[in-house]
Amino acid sequence: MKITALAGGIGGARFLRGLREHLQGRGDDWAGAEITVIGNTADDITLFGLRVCPDLDTVMYTLGGGIHEEQGWGRSDETFGVSAELAAYEVPPDWFTLGDRDIATHIVRTQMLRAGWSLTDVTAALCDRWQPGVRLLPMSDDPVETHVVVAGDDASREAVHFQEWWVREQARRPALEFVFLGAAEAKPTAAVLDAIHGADVVLLPPSNPVVSIGAILQVVGVGDALRAATAPIVGVSPIIGGRPVRGMADACLSAIGVETAAAAVAGHYGARIAGGLLDGWLVANQDASTAGPPGVVQRSHPLLMTTRGEAAGLAGAALDLALELRH
Ligand code: GDP
Ligand code: CA
Repeated sequence: MKITALAGGIGGARFLRGLREHLQGRGDDWAGAEITVIGNTADDITLFGLRVCPDLDTVMYTLGGGIHEEQGWGRSDETFGVSAELAAYEVPPDWFTLGDRDIATHIVRTQMLRAGWSLTDVTAALCDRWQPGVRLLPMSDDPVETHVVVAGDDASREAVHFQEWWVREQARRPALEFVFLGAAEAKPTAAVLDAIHGADVVLLPPSNPVVSIGAILQVVGVGDALRAATAPIVGVSPIIGGRPVRGMADACLSAIGVETAAAAVAGHYGARIAGGLLDGWLVANQDASTAGPPGVVQRSHPLLMTTRGEAAGLAGAALDLALELRH
């Protein structure tokens, strides 16, 4: 049995760890299901000459047991000696946190990329250490970077790297537009397309629908592969009761004219029977009364993933809905 999921960072990673734990406890054929994760790489950034892939690393550290649990990103037991030294040299940027342990990952990645390895192979090599229990694939081996168009000081428009807007500015300036640089030329890897075609179930975890899942869908061919997949596609809402749970997904949704509401996100993904992506949609219990798009089977379940048990229960509910829709 094969499950393929698209994922960004924290929402995706917690859901996937829940899915892996749910499968371990299952008493049917799905107990040994293989999980393939198509990770967002459009948040990637080069800092101090190092290639940083925040979403791939969040998934890898979370499933591999190296994540800073409370924070949801970065390494546990981290120290910041390198950052302090860079600050002493007054070498910018100082707004993106890079811990010493984390830097080792970026050094290994950058070294291998420079030696000619693909990001897919580099990610697999990093996962040899972390053993996340899933196959983690970057959405493409070609670089894609999300940039955010914001209003400048004098009614001009200016574009900044997504991380600069998200981390440095905390999304304070309203986004006018997202530009996925490189996406039009980026190819999905053969492994990504195979994972979609060969899946028995496809899941869209509660990742950011615009800059995480949305960025993966910008890679030409990924959306078509999903629409053509024989597997049912079930999504989980990242919005609970009109609010994003962690992060500022509302600032991303409003930029593309989508209301911060579970039903509006489902409408944005669209029903598969109407040329969209979704066969099923899982919403929070408090959103159960709001209907999603026609043709999408909606169920409700507690959607907050504070504990690992909650995440496993949520993943189990998403999988059960997909199994119900399989025939
Ligand atoms: P990022 O790359 O670290 O921003 O992570 P993702 O794109 O994977 O996830 C961010 C999204 O996850 C946000 O839109 C949140 O609303 C959603 N999210 C985070 N935690 C939870 C949770 O416990 N439950 C649900 N349903 N959504 C969550
Ligand atoms: Ca991210």
